[in-house]
Amino acid sequence: LLQSPGANIWIDPGPGTLANLQRHITLESLTAIWISHVHADHFSDILIAWYALAEARRAAPIPVFGPLGWERRVKSFFDPRPDDFLEDVFSVEHLEDGHNVALGGISLTSRQVEHDVPTFGLRASAGTEVVAYSGDSRRCPAQAELARNADVFLCEAYATAPGSAAHEWHMTPEDASAIADQAMVRRLVLTHLSPTMSPQAALARAGRAGALPPIVATDGLVILSDGTYDEDIR
Ligand SMILES: [Zn+2]
Repeated sequence: LLQSPGANIWIDPGPGTLANLQRHITLESLTAIWISHVHADHFSDILIAWYALAEARRAAPIPVFGPLGWERRVKSFFDPRPDDFLEDVFSVEHLEDGHNVALGGISLTSRQVEHDVPTFGLRASAGTEVVAYSGDSRRCPAQAELARNADVFLCEAYATAPGSAAHEWHMTPEDASAIADQAMVRRLVLTHLSPTMSPQAALARAGRAGALPPIVATDGLVILSDGTYDEDIR
């Protein structure tokens, strides 16, 4: 959940995120949804959200930004249904490299990154405050551009070893740290860790000098725009 006084934007509706989202906001107050890519671990909860939102009878469909054809993947789960049932709930928007949209005081810029399916990373800014998100990606030039001088850089670190099969399409903690240094990021937040890598190991490997120490994303973690954080108060 990317939140400002004027916007509630659900970034990557992966499994479990709908439940967590509703700890913070009602679905009726959702401004938009943004999908980095259509691997199931990044968007499957949109199926469940469709049911909830179809009942909520909002005045206007919620804009959903995602790679070309994201809507076909979602619709395939609901077959057979009328052609426009999805559009009653979601307005279909497609991302391209450099796509920009302003929503309730938050400006979202999407950049194509390098993964085994079309994938985007995100740079979100509100005033002078910047939050960047890697999407799933191997290390690529767009990452440092997304993260340049960001207050918070949420970066995947799924690959456990350089040269491993996972490293072809994902980053190691060292990659994440190197991008954060290059981009002069204030706070690096590691996410999407392999089940075989402990948070402690990931943090040790991503250690940076002269910056706020990296942290690992956990359920309910709240990060303020200055890079400070606290565990969620439920
Ligand atoms: Zn992926």
